[in-house]
Amino acid sequence: MEKKYDYLIVGSGLFGSVFSYEIIKKGYKCLVIDKREHLGGNLYCENIEDINVHKYGPHIFHTNDKFIWDYVNSLVEFNRYTNSPMANYKGELYNLPFNMNTFYKLWGVKTPQEAQQKIKDQVKKSGIKNPKNLEEQAISLVGVDIYEKLIKGYTEKQWGRKATDLPSSIIKRIPVRFNYDNNYFNDKYQGIPIGGYNKLISKLLSKADTKTSVDFFSNKDNLINIAEKIVFTGKIDQFYDYKYGELEYRSLNFESQVLDKKNFQGNAVINYTDFEVKYTRIIEHKHFEFGKQKKTVITKEFPNEWKKGSEPYYPINDKKNSAIYSKYKKLASQEKNIIFGGRLAEYKYYDMHQVIASALKSIKNIPNKK
Ligand code: FAD
Repeated sequence: MEKKYDYLIVGSGLFGSVFSYEIIKKGYKCLVIDKREHLGGNLYCENIEDINVHKYGPHIFHTNDKFIWDYVNSLVEFNRYTNSPMANYKGELYNLPFNMNTFYKLWGVKTPQEAQQKIKDQVKKSGIKNPKNLEEQAISLVGVDIYEKLIKGYTEKQWGRKATDLPSSIIKRIPVRFNYDNNYFNDKYQGIPIGGYNKLISKLLSKADTKTSVDFFSNKDNLINIAEKIVFTGKIDQFYDYKYGELEYRSLNFESQVLDKKNFQGNAVINYTDFEVKYTRIIEHKHFEFGKQKKTVITKEFPNEWKKGSEPYYPINDKKNSAIYSKYKKLASQEKNIIFGGRLAEYKYYDMHQVIASALKSIKNIPNKK
């Protein structure tokens, strides 16, 4: 018997949405489901006080790939937002990424030569030749001042462990710039969709059938029979009933507040780099879109150990988890009618431009429907 849909897409994040947009263009019929109450996955913005609040963490679109930039701009218009985060260390403010503005504030140095010499002297003084942990690795790259004020506390909060207990391999290099450029990304293109990310998702899903608050695993037997093929963007370990064990993540907690003032911190992102302040950053959402609203919304971000049931944010690509994932990947590669894609199904940190490229790649060889 012919099934109602050609594709059932599990998950309406960027992978599922791009896949659905492209597969419909090829003449197929698809249903997109999501277990959340809304579409859009982690890009979803909640409108509070007329401000687009990035509910699952701040999202800044950036890419070096002209094709991907043109692709997203053909769907929605982007603004000229440039990410220039600040760091707050015990009340002192520093520019990020580490550049001449940061070095001037740290040491009063005014020329690249003075800054380079200062770092060189500190690295030499540390005497570290074979770094045994993250702390030693960072000091051997940028010296003790940048490490103590801008790296140590932030990293320890992010990982929930002392820097001396973290492997040196986490940090391969620390980008330092000897110019006065506060633009965080090196990419050619960056911005935020004008009107927020929901506009991008609405455009991508405009022709698809969609259902929210539907968990694939609660309705699996029925859902499997609804379509010829499945695109699965949920957790791969859950798909296989955790038969090889659970994949681990770092999680986050967000605490948002509406404030009765126009401008709280003058910037979208301020990192808190000392250990005593328990959050890693405060996001003031209106600055992503140069908002002029009367009120403002801020969100404090707290890193968290991940427990079953909490939101999985960052995969932990260590040896143990990579070994578990490769077993699931092998099972997935044997499936004939299931495509696994996106950050949860591939257990991979993807930026948005990368997840779009990956969705486009997975659809490339599917012929138009006859
Ligand atoms: P998701 O957006 O997670 O979508 C998966 C969807 O599947 C979800 O909606 C989920 O509810 C649904 N789902 C899962 N299981 C089921 C099920 N059983 N049944 C039904 N539905 C299910 N990228 C950038 O480029 N720039 C940034 O600034 C940036 N900031 C980030 C900040 C944070 C805190 C995080 C965690 C990520 C950030 N990213 C950023 C990465 C970006 O979020 C991802 O690239 C993108 O969300 C991946 O899309 P996806 O479709 O793979 O996953």
